[in-house]
Formats: sequence, C-alpha cells, structure tokens
Amino acid sequence: MPQYICSQCNKEYDTITADGFCTNQPECEFGTGWLREKGSAKSADDSGLTPLEFGNEAGLCILMMDGSFSMNEPAFPESDYPGTRYKLVAMNAAGGIWSLKSMTHRESAYLALAVFGGEPKLVSIKSVEDIFKEHDTPEALADSIQKTLENETPDARFTNINSAVQLAYEIKQAFIGGDLSGFGGPTDFKPVIHPVVRGSEEREEFIDIPNVRALIYTDGEHNVTSAIKNPFAGDEQSVLITAFIGEKDAKGVSQMQGLACTCPKHGPANGFFLIDSPERVQTLRGIFRMASGASGFCSACLHVEQKGLEITEPESDLEEAGESGAGPAETGVDSENPSDKEESIVDTPAPQSETSSSQGT
Ligand SMILES: [Zn+2]
Ligand SMILES: [Zn+2]
Repeated sequence: MPQYICSQCNKEYDTITADGFCTNQPECEFGTGWLREKGSAKSADDSGLTPLEFGNEAGLCILMMDGSFSMNEPAFPESDYPGTRYKLVAMNAAGGIWSLKSMTHRESAYLALAVFGGEPKLVSIKSVEDIFKEHDTPEALADSIQKTLENETPDARFTNINSAVQLAYEIKQAFIGGDLSGFGGPTDFKPVIHPVVRGSEEREEFIDIPNVRALIYTDGEHNVTSAIKNPFAGDEQSVLITAFIGEKDAKGVSQMQGLACTCPKHGPANGFFLIDSPERVQTLRGIFRMASGASGFCSACLHVEQKGLEITEPESDLEEAGESGAGPAETGVDSENPSDKEESIVDTPAPQSETSSSQGT
C-alpha cells in the first residue's frame, strides 16, 4: 500500500525518495512535485505541464541570487515542502531554464549567474546552449546551482541588496553596449531591441526595450547601513524583476517591491513576486523562465504565459492585474484562448516543439 503521493503528478510511492521530491521525470516536471503522505493533503491536478515554446531571442538574463546562510532554512516551515530555500531556488531556476530547451537561438541567449551575500559575485556568463551542453538533466543543473549558492556566496552572513543591484545594472549596461568581455562574456554582439507600446491612462507611447532582464530575489533584507538605491529606476524602462522568499509581512518585501520595474504593458502592475507558500513554487519557476527568456515583466505577463501552459494557479493576490486588458492578440504562444494572448515582447515564438514534453518517453 503506497504511503506517499506526488503533490504534482499524483504518482504513488511506497517509500520516500532520497530528497523527498518526485522522481517521475519527464512526466512530472522537474522540481515541481514533492512527496506527501497519502491522505494528508490535497494534491494538485495533473495539469499537462508543457514547456513553453519560447520566443527565440538573443538576449541576456542576469540572475542575481541570494546565497546567504538563511537560505539553508526550510523553504516553507509551516508546510510539508521538503526542501530548503537553497533547494527551492536551485530546482526552480534549473526547471525554469530547462523549459527554454525548445527555443531557437539558444546560442545567442545568455545567462549571467551571480550570487550575493554581503557582496555580489558574478559566477559566469554563458549561453543557454552551453548550459544545456554542460548539464545533461535539470537535476544536474539544479545541483550545480545549489552548490554555487552554498559555496560561492561572498560574505554569506549579510545581505547587501545595493551592491547586488548595482552589479546587475553594470552587467545590463555592458550588454546594451554590446560588449560583455569585461565580465567574461561575449563581445561584438548587438543587443536585440524590441519596440513596445507602453500604455497608460493618458497616453500610449512607443519605447524601445532591450532584450535583457535582471532578476534578483532575497529571503532577507538589506542589512548594511546605506539606504536602498536603485540604478534601474533612472532608465526609460526598468528591466528589474524582484522576488521575495518568505513571509509577506517581512521587511524585505517592501524593499523588493520598491525595486521592481513597472510593467510596460500592465502598469501599474510591477515586477515583484512574493513566494510565501508551496503553492507559489510554480510561480517561482515561471519567474525564472520568464526572466531567462526575457519575455515579460510582471505577474500578468506570467499569467499569460501560464495560461499557455494550462497551469492553473491557486488564488493569488499577485495576479489581480492579470485579468484585464491584455494587449492586441498578435503573436505567440499556443493558447487555449487566443483572445487572452497579448503581443509578445520578445520575438514570435517558434512553432516547433521537438523537445516539448509531448514526446513523453
Ligand atoms: Zn510527480
Ligand atoms: Zn506585464
């Protein structure tokens, strides 16, 4: 008689797995399912998790990841979620990146991986293609991200948001300048620029948005003496997405909220995400995917993507902006409901899907 059941795919297990997570890949998307004692809690519907066909972009994502010691605590202590915050972010960063596997031009989509504690450290700038070459599975990628967080975070007793955001900004600027060689990245490339209609109550305007996103998350708060500064705020359009892992009344929440960009399509909705319960694990993975694919900014953007994925999220106060006013249907991701599609900020996604989970071996 099975004792455990996966929270995501409902696969039953007689004994718990080594790390408490579901091992039923590829049917169960890596990192999303964990084992619950049978009958103890509701299981999510098996909702046909199909990786999003992303839009083939040359571009850059800067992942600025908090690796401070507090990340070693249980991610959601009130729940049956079996991982630490390190594990939570490593698995979902890996899962989010992995869902870009089917995008074309993977060789020109770059990922800058950086960790921070009291100081930030850029670990690498690599193309998504190279990341896939170096890691055979999302599990291997998650392991390597987790080891990086645990072992390479400078000054892990502290959380210095300012220096982390500043480094992310400098990398972003170098990308826009077409030369990342100062950071050990590529040179002589042209950043892709997307014209986007930014709408507001009073007017619409055309702005150019470079195909770059910076994502910073923390589970703490800025705890060095200087006040929070945000160099992204001086840009025509900020590309800084932020997330907080922890309780919603923590001090770090308002700090991260204040740093987040305003979405050019869904403003005043902004690019802040709160990860405060196991139900938000899908959201976390979605943010990593959205940032890595440089495809969106806010929870409404993510909502549109997840509709394409047929993922139904539990009720979420973060999605209040997502129900209204999607832009003109123009391009995109396969969706059950074309009227909900919006103009993609990235290039038209490729229709091909050779690596989608539908291959289902
Ligand atoms: Zn599963
Ligand atoms: Zn948006």
